[in-house]
Amino acid sequence: MLHIAIIGSGPAGYYTAEAAQKQWGDAVQVDIFDRLPVPYGLIRTGVAPDHQSIKGVSRRYEAVALSDNVRFIGNVTIGEDIEIAELRELYDAVVLATGAPHDKLLGLPGEHLANVYGSAAFVGWYNGHPQFADLDPDLSGAGAVVIGNGNVALDVARILAKTRAEFAGSDIVAHALDRLDQSRLTRITLLGRRGPHQIAMTPKELGELGHLTRAYTRVDAADLPDLSEDAALDPGQRKSVTHLRNFAATPPSDKPLDLEFDFFAAPKAIIAGEDGKVAAVEVERTRLDDGRAVGTGEIYRIPASLVVACIGYQTSPIPGVPFDESGGRFANDEGRILPGLYCVGWARRGPSGTIGTNRPDGFGVIEKIAADISASGKLGGAGFDKLAAARKLAVVEFHEWQKIEEAETKRARHDAPREKFVSLGEMIAAAGKI
Ligand code: NAP
Repeated sequence: MLHIAIIGSGPAGYYTAEAAQKQWGDAVQVDIFDRLPVPYGLIRTGVAPDHQSIKGVSRRYEAVALSDNVRFIGNVTIGEDIEIAELRELYDAVVLATGAPHDKLLGLPGEHLANVYGSAAFVGWYNGHPQFADLDPDLSGAGAVVIGNGNVALDVARILAKTRAEFAGSDIVAHALDRLDQSRLTRITLLGRRGPHQIAMTPKELGELGHLTRAYTRVDAADLPDLSEDAALDPGQRKSVTHLRNFAATPPSDKPLDLEFDFFAAPKAIIAGEDGKVAAVEVERTRLDDGRAVGTGEIYRIPASLVVACIGYQTSPIPGVPFDESGGRFANDEGRILPGLYCVGWARRGPSGTIGTNRPDGFGVIEKIAADISASGKLGGAGFDKLAAARKLAVVEFHEWQKIEEAETKRARHDAPREKFVSLGEMIAAAGKI
């Protein structure tokens, strides 16, 4: 029997488990570890709560999780409850599918001021990640600046703009829904350091900004390149840019919230007000030089009482595992860190691509493992169970997660699929562990 430990139960983890089953059939046993008592990683805590159809992919992971040779081992933190070196003793291969849970820093003065957040924290807050459930962002001011022109910035801006009624059918957690419902924002600025042709927003999601109840989406037509230049874009990007053109052509409305794109605008500093909280973002106008943003020297300030930087993520280093600082991921050769130790998904390639990108990634890493190793009589999960018992770890297995899921479904608002538990204690209790 070949024993594989996968660390992280998000898409990268489950696609890797699926690939292992395809490769070795019944001759492999896969244990999927997660620091949370709940599975599915960013499907639960990253994908926007109002994008429920995307979350449906978790049913595919569930089918893998329910098969005989795959086990979910939740509520176990690698590096705290058990070391990587110990896992490597027990399993033939260890695959790090730990994602990229930390915000990249802007590296600007003022970025640690109150009410300035990275997107991992802010998205984690409205999605009920236990680490960020207590974030308590202040939405009582008039202006918010969302830094970045990627899909996460788009998610954050849309969530900030929606009314309570527009969250019907979503699984946004109650604390965030209540806070958003009392928001006094009248302006959300999406700051892009480059131009409309350089956005990294998918057309379907960008198009949603045109249908918001209380927000008018504003694009300055002067920022748009000549229409003829759209021909050089790939079809998806052309569609996205067409949305921007439509927003620019829409006459101003009397909706109470302006959602404006400020292109060619690079943040330079976050400015504090007298109360020590964020009061503005200082910005430098840019121009494109061979595709890169270059400062023009024109500086201005955008008043803001809330700033969310959506500029990408990085993987958490693990002591003893080679790390690529500049890429914010584990140092690896197409998924191989060392023979016996691998990485996959965002932990391998950095925070790019969609959920589906992780499938070929999972199959790729299993090919590497198949080339490197064969069963060697290691103890695998039986060895872990002994160690967990000796350390009195409160491991949450898949059937216990199913109890959590059932309890979350039961306590859902009438128009929601679930009301997530947002603390580890509540999750463990719902799992029947205490
Ligand atoms: P992203 O797509 O890499 O976008 C990051 C944005 O931040 C870019 O506009 C980038 O500008 C900007 N940026 C980076 N550093 C900056 C700085 N120092 N100052 C100002 N701007 C800066 O990352 P993401 O939005 O976090 O998304 C991560 C991945 O998840 C992407 O692959 C995304 O498509 C995916 N995702 C998909 C969905 C969906 O399909 N619905 C939803 C959420 C996330 P430059 O381009 O100039 O570098």
